[in-house]
Amino acid sequence: MKAKDMSICQIEGKEYYSVGWIDGHKDFPTQDIDSECLDKLFILCKNNVMERYRSNTPCILCYPTMDAIRKAVFETNDGIDIYAHHSVTQEKLLLGKSTIAIELNGSSYFFPDLLWHYIKEHSYAPPKPFVDLVNSFTPKQVN
Ligand SMILES: [Zn+2]
Repeated sequence: MKAKDMSICQIEGKEYYSVGWIDGHKDFPTQDIDSECLDKLFILCKNNVMERYRSNTPCILCYPTMDAIRKAVFETNDGIDIYAHHSVTQEKLLLGKSTIAIELNGSSYFFPDLLWHYIKEHSYAPPKPFVDLVNSFTPKQVN
C-alpha cells in the first residue's frame, strides 16, 4: 500500500483517513461488497472530487507495466477499461482521474477514484468503518 489504510493524512490543515492507496502488490484483505454499496461509492466519487489529474492513471494491478499499458492501448481493440458503472442508472464514470475526499457523519476520508475498481475487480476490502460509512450514505433522489 502506498499509504496504510486508516492512516491519517493531513491536507490543508484538515485530517483525513486514507483508504485504498494500493500499490502493485496484492497485499490487502479481500471481501465481496454488494452492488448497493458500490453504487453509493460511485455517487460519492462523482460528487466529491478533491483533485483532478492531468492524465488518466490506469489500475496498477491490471496494468502493472508500461508494456501492459502499451499493449492494451495499441495492440488490442479493448483499450484500457477503467470505468465505474452504476448498476441502476447505467451511468459510467471514468476512473484513474481523480482523488476523492468525503466528509460524512463527522468522518473524513481521502481515496483514489480507482477505489471503486479495486473493490469491484480485485475484491479489495476497505476498512469496515469506511464500508459502514458508505452504506450509511443516502444519495439524494434525482428526477
Ligand atoms: Zn485493476
